[in-house]
Amino acid sequence: MRIVLLGPPGVGKGSLASLCEARTGLAHLSTGEIFRQEIARHSALGRRVRAFVTSGRLVPDALVVRVMAGRLGARAGTGVKGFVLDGFPRTEGQARGLDRLLKRLGRPLEGAVELWAPRTVLIRRLSGRRVCPRCGANYHLVTMRPRRKGRCDRCRERLVVRKDDRPEMIRKRLAIHEQAAAPLLAYYRRDGRLCRVDGSGSLEAVFARTMRALRRKGWTAPQND
Ligand code: AMP
Repeated sequence: MRIVLLGPPGVGKGSLASLCEARTGLAHLSTGEIFRQEIARHSALGRRVRAFVTSGRLVPDALVVRVMAGRLGARAGTGVKGFVLDGFPRTEGQARGLDRLLKRLGRPLEGAVELWAPRTVLIRRLSGRRVCPRCGANYHLVTMRPRRKGRCDRCRERLVVRKDDRPEMIRKRLAIHEQAAAPLLAYYRRDGRLCRVDGSGSLEAVFARTMRALRRKGWTAPQND
């Protein structure tokens, strides 16, 4: 199965995609995570995207699609199950680019899951989020605490606040999302490839709702990539 997760910052795309990977074997790919790793490595790509990522602006479509073409192309034919993409596509242009790319690879997308939650929930989640700068693991001050206060469970690194999770940046990112969301959702809705899932409540509850929604759509059969 090949699906994408859509929805505003803070709705839980990353957490849900990680759980899908752990429970179903679908590979989780996150453009935000790829960019943060490249920035940390000071690679050429990292230098190109740094200003966009740290200010919450969108990286230009052509560059994002090129990066994903490289990652998905490298995976094709490796025999692993499908994928769940998180944070990509974010615009209608990227969605069209992804469809063109997957058509070339002969691996079309089943569809898109739109996670939604009230704005107050999004702001609460983003402002309480803490991340590990080394492995990218996500935590929350209230709902997903690390075992040892302020330290990553996996690598013991000190947890930090993402630069783009600061209050003024949160408002800006939500506004940027709202601008691009309507045409993106309409693109998938037009041909029946969109399903909506309530992203509020616990991660387990959201996972169960998502699996039910996927089954209703008939998208659950894992296929080789
Ligand atoms: P995220 O981790 O998904 O919140 O992404 C963090 C930042 O990476 C975003 O605010 C953008 O600057 C950049 N980014 C991630 N994915 C995309 C995308 N599909 N298109 C454009 N920019 C992106």
